[in-house]
Amino acid sequence: MPTEELKEAAAKYLMQTYTRQPISIVRGRGARVYDLEGREYIDFVGGIAVNVLGHGHPDLVHAIQRQAAQLIHVSNLYYTEPQVQLAKILVEHSFADRVFFCNSGAEANEAAIKLARRYAHAKYGPDRFEIITMKNSFHGRTLATITATGQDKVQKGFEPLMPGFAYAPFNDFAAIEAMAGERTAGIMLEPIQGEGGVHVADREYLQQLHEFCAKRDILLIFDEVQTGMGRTGTLFAYQQLGVEPDIMTLAKGLGGGMPIGACLAKEPVAAVFQPGDHASTFGGNPLACAAALAVCRALLEGSVLDNAKRMGEYLLQGLAKCKDRHRNVREVRGLGLLQGMELDIDAKTVVADCLARGVLVNAASERVLRFVPPLVITQREIDKLLETLTVIFTRRATEEKAAHH
Ligand SMILES: *Cc1c(COP(=O)(O)O)cnc(C)c1O
Repeated sequence: MPTEELKEAAAKYLMQTYTRQPISIVRGRGARVYDLEGREYIDFVGGIAVNVLGHGHPDLVHAIQRQAAQLIHVSNLYYTEPQVQLAKILVEHSFADRVFFCNSGAEANEAAIKLARRYAHAKYGPDRFEIITMKNSFHGRTLATITATGQDKVQKGFEPLMPGFAYAPFNDFAAIEAMAGERTAGIMLEPIQGEGGVHVADREYLQQLHEFCAKRDILLIFDEVQTGMGRTGTLFAYQQLGVEPDIMTLAKGLGGGMPIGACLAKEPVAAVFQPGDHASTFGGNPLACAAALAVCRALLEGSVLDNAKRMGEYLLQGLAKCKDRHRNVREVRGLGLLQGMELDIDAKTVVADCLARGVLVNAASERVLRFVPPLVITQREIDKLLETLTVIFTRRATEEKAAHH
């Protein structure tokens, strides 16, 4: 269907929940995608931190093809090998002892919230249920997870929200000390706030949180839906930040594009979920798990993680140089291949300029450009982004100057 017709049909038949860029993407290879007219784009969006192995990675494609031909889905009433294998590999390479599988980031966080409530309830009774989350956070779009999300814009008009949540400013330990009490079951945060504009948690803050939580048996929950699966240069971000959580959630990159989420926990916590306490029809189905297994193996056995680390540093350095040269750039921050660039202008207009020049980027919050490419991105592809940004910011500076004269 031609792009114009597709846009019209989308306007007619879809609920209008998304603002979309005016292109129709039909295929991809590595860190590049192609639109219906055959134009090539370098993909610094990566499905929003999903396509960790890039597009069309042969191991991922073959794993999905093989598993689809053998068995796509059966109920969790039965055992399937891919699900158990995936849990094993995640446990062996993380702090966790057990895994629950679901289908998205929001669902993984729902599982984490339920697990924390159940743990606190079982150990301390019904008055201990509160989850403290961070202002400017993002945890998903279900009712519990918009409540957990510390941003008015996702909550407005959906009230009443879920009881039992409180919000602390990010990176502010004194605020946690003041808020947390006998009611507090858990503290949930992103090691790097992604949607909120790429803000990295301070190591010292996380250390203090960890100590504080351990002392009071408050569960520390890391939402690694965006930061997990090699995004920051290690399999999980917490491995670089010096602190292990009690519960961690994953989704986005886990299936390399197949929808799958996971909630991981240490044993004393995980053990409070008994048969019948939580469930998902699709959760951990063999197709999604076979894809996630291929992703895990590529990250652990191949050169992808190493590339993410090296290219993350290269990208950060390039963006920092860009900041030094262009006055529209205020700050550059991030870890590995999750980088943000704060501007003093509307990021949306720069997103459009990049698109017109064959580079996909997106805006996380109004003034922050976010770069979350596939972890297989190359130096030349990063150079293309940096050149594109330079052209855009140089042109803007020239135009501004002209307008002043
Ligand atoms: C994207 C995201 C979610 C929500 O994931 P969905 O799969 O869209 O439900 C939750 N937490 C974080 C940190 C995210 O980046």
